[in-house]
Amino acid sequence: MQTLKELYKIGPGPSSSHTLAPARACRLYLENYPETESVKVNLYGSLSLTGKGHFTDKIIMDTFAPRKCEVEFKLDWEQPFPNGFTIDGYDANDHLTGHWSVYSLGGGSIFVVERPDLIIQQPYKEKTMSEIIEVCKKNQWNFVDYVFNNEDKELYNYLSKILSAMLESVKRGLSASGVLPGKLGIERCAKNMYLKSKSIEDDHEEFKVRLMSYAYAVSEENASNGEVVTAPTLGACGILAAYMYMMYYDEGVSRRKLINALAVGGLFGNVIKHNATISGAVGGCQAEIGAACCMTAAAAAYLNDLNIKQIEYAAEIAMEHHLGLTCDPVGGYVIIPCIERNAVGVLRAVDAMTLSKYMSKIKENVVNFDTVVRTMKYTGQKLPLELKETSLGGLAQEVSIKGVDHD
Ligand code: SF4
Repeated sequence: MQTLKELYKIGPGPSSSHTLAPARACRLYLENYPETESVKVNLYGSLSLTGKGHFTDKIIMDTFAPRKCEVEFKLDWEQPFPNGFTIDGYDANDHLTGHWSVYSLGGGSIFVVERPDLIIQQPYKEKTMSEIIEVCKKNQWNFVDYVFNNEDKELYNYLSKILSAMLESVKRGLSASGVLPGKLGIERCAKNMYLKSKSIEDDHEEFKVRLMSYAYAVSEENASNGEVVTAPTLGACGILAAYMYMMYYDEGVSRRKLINALAVGGLFGNVIKHNATISGAVGGCQAEIGAACCMTAAAAAYLNDLNIKQIEYAAEIAMEHHLGLTCDPVGGYVIIPCIERNAVGVLRAVDAMTLSKYMSKIKENVVNFDTVVRTMKYTGQKLPLELKETSLGGLAQEVSIKGVDHD
């Protein structure tokens, strides 16, 4: 499995598959072919169908600027992976510098067909949660020990930067106002929601509204092309960040403990990414919000001093109850249902942790984490194309908003 540095990435919203991954591939292309003077990029699959709403063409043109860059939205992709693009660059004499076919794997990760050597650091030998738990048992490690004994020394500082970026994204989102970019004309709500939470007398409701306002804050930053963290994707960036913000500023948990929690949550995200997918275009929203909820439930369980089995149980509950969740963003924007879904997701993560904490004392969990991950992969394969980030079905077709065309 890959390093957690590949799972958590800081970047501009609104979609890791549609903005972060293309920008990354374009930068890598220029590093490999610095003589490039003009470029032609063809987008396929979900990138073609929702690339406008996700601002994919803009980010590609910005990355290649000041070079001439043409971006086309195509439908005749013949590669085995559903979401990808090609890059053809030309030098000053109009000779081809290089042809790349790039797969956007989710969470900003890429695979370049012509350059399989551009492989990411893979520090983990184990591939499943059951294997990881076995190693932990053998060495009397917890999940934090497992991560830091496998990764290089740099990981702690890297995760510290990730934590800072998460906290900053909540802070910025809570103080911003105005209309989110795109044709939907949706106003930002996080600030008002947070202010409203202060007047709620019922402690339980106040906690929920406050926590949801944090998730709104990050997701609205994402929808506004702000700098957020893939956890595991940009579309689902609000869940873990909201929980971290709450634990740091409201509960006074130390940075060290939160960095460890990012390691634990990241481990679960990594197992999902390795064995199934974290891409909405491949597995539907269960792969994004479902995975983010798992990571947060695991992080929350760690921060609440639950043991390894209870942490696994919390993450399993979080995924099990997102199975089948579709991806049908209205107008191709990462706004409806995405922002609200992040808010609901963070509450579900807390519920999953709580259920694990008490249910694990009553009975043993029947479904383990690896089983639910396999089920998520299977379910994603069965979901129709219309419900996998193409905006061809579901809410994207049902919800009529002025300015958004339904063909
Ligand atoms: S519906 Fe879910 S998977 Fe689809 S873009 Fe929104 S957050 Fe991402």
